[in-house]
Amino acid sequence: MWLILPNFTEYMQEGLITDIELLEQVNEHTQGHEHRPSGEIRTTAENALAGQRKLYIESYGCQMNFSDSEIVASIMQKHGFGTTARPEEADLVLLNTCAIRDKAEQTIRHRLGELNGLKKRNPEMTIGVLGCMAERLKAKLLEEEKIVDLVVGPDAYRDLPRLVGEVDSGARAVNVLLSREETYADITPVRLESNGVTAFISIMRGCDNMCSFCVVPFTRGRERSRDPQSIIAEAQDLFNKGFREVTLLGQNVDSYKWAGQANKKETDRAQAEGKPVIDFADLLEMVALIHPDLRVRFSTSHPKDMTDKVLHTMAKYDNICKYIHLPVQSGNNRVLQLMNRTYDREWYIGRIDAIRRILGEDCGISSDMIAGFCTETEEEHQDTLTLMQYAKFDFSYMFYYSERPGTLAARKYADDIPLEVKKRRLNEIIALQRDLSYERNQRDVGKIHRVLIEGASKRSADFLQGRNTANKVVVFPRGSYQKGQYVNVLVHSATAATLLGEVVE
Ligand code: SAM
Ligand code: SF4
Repeated sequence: MWLILPNFTEYMQEGLITDIELLEQVNEHTQGHEHRPSGEIRTTAENALAGQRKLYIESYGCQMNFSDSEIVASIMQKHGFGTTARPEEADLVLLNTCAIRDKAEQTIRHRLGELNGLKKRNPEMTIGVLGCMAERLKAKLLEEEKIVDLVVGPDAYRDLPRLVGEVDSGARAVNVLLSREETYADITPVRLESNGVTAFISIMRGCDNMCSFCVVPFTRGRERSRDPQSIIAEAQDLFNKGFREVTLLGQNVDSYKWAGQANKKETDRAQAEGKPVIDFADLLEMVALIHPDLRVRFSTSHPKDMTDKVLHTMAKYDNICKYIHLPVQSGNNRVLQLMNRTYDREWYIGRIDAIRRILGEDCGISSDMIAGFCTETEEEHQDTLTLMQYAKFDFSYMFYYSERPGTLAARKYADDIPLEVKKRRLNEIIALQRDLSYERNQRDVGKIHRVLIEGASKRSADFLQGRNTANKVVVFPRGSYQKGQYVNVLVHSATAATLLGEVVE
């Protein structure tokens, strides 16, 4: 189940948005390309057999979390749990949480308050918190939220059955140990809420980058890569089951590296000793070779690591989608330095130029932007706007800065931009992005796009929708076409969010 708000562009056109909080929320929802922090909440579907204990998982945040919930469902299934879509019927309720901004954590606390009512009616119900908020707050969460029985961090999901057993015998349980090796490579995810066409494959975990604003290195631990053979096997299995698109997921996919084990330190040592190493471009090629009808996407690319080798591999295979999510965060060099992003504006522009040179003007590019980072001046904010104009992003995920306890920025810099200023700057970024999205989408009008059909349009059952290679949503009359099919669509019009057209043979 997806909670989706109506179209952002229409809200803007109809002048319905006056409150920036709402605007931000709508922005998060409608920019919900699945691998990004989005305001979406996903829940498990009904598949428990008679007599099985019932598990209900609610997943918040980014696609990595949604993927992890599929691993958790798989682990618990082996221990006798089936899933339910109704929390009131569950024996075990798990919230898989996000900690990226304060608002994400407030949402979880609010939800725990609501679940309190259910627990009062069913005191046998076990309530667990998983994911980044669990890892950040650890046992403190048990003190602060009395209804929580279980706190489990992202690297400890194999231990869940034992921890649930501890709760069954009357204790409260915590495991927030982070690992340098865990990739869950051998666990076949139970696909939750799948459209049967597109799926996500986690290729690495953790992050070693230490951007000063970001809590991820603390909540998801050190970077490690997954065995490529297990990735290929998972993609092949998905293709055999009828899936036609896989997205390879990681916080920084360009630093994927495999030389026989997950541990990055060991991999670096093996590489220094001259042992053969599989890098991200090699992995991309291996997945592309599974079948020409299996589309391959990936996210997220870090500007400091995205190589021309990856771009040339993308150019070589039609089934590697021509779309790159390349978050810039800010267009100003002083701010980028404070953010510890380790590249500057000129480097980023060089990467945009390389994409255009190797993959052409039509390659989709998207970004993340943070408005009002510590000490950001009006001129520095303007630099973000001019960089957006240069890069001509097809869409972006836009946030105002939210200080996270324990991060480098929280320890070193004052969060000194007033909230109204952050919101106004964010509003300017959103307005510019809306214009850029509209402009970029108009370029697609009059052209034929190969679209992989994902299902019915959100608006009307008489229309289908899918995506073109650049990750843009294309809507067209249903005809007799089916999801999972590829069709050629001649686009006749476009809004800032969607391309509209007709199938041509
Ligand atoms: N690894 C990805 C990268 O470096 O591009 C980003 C992952 S992060 C989960 C997603 C986005 O959340 C970031 O790109 C950033 O724009 C935003 N973000 C992270 N920490 C934030 C904070 N403290 N305040 C506001 N936005 C934040
Ligand atoms: Fe966070 Fe930076 Fe790592 Fe992305 S690259 S997850 S922003 S620390």
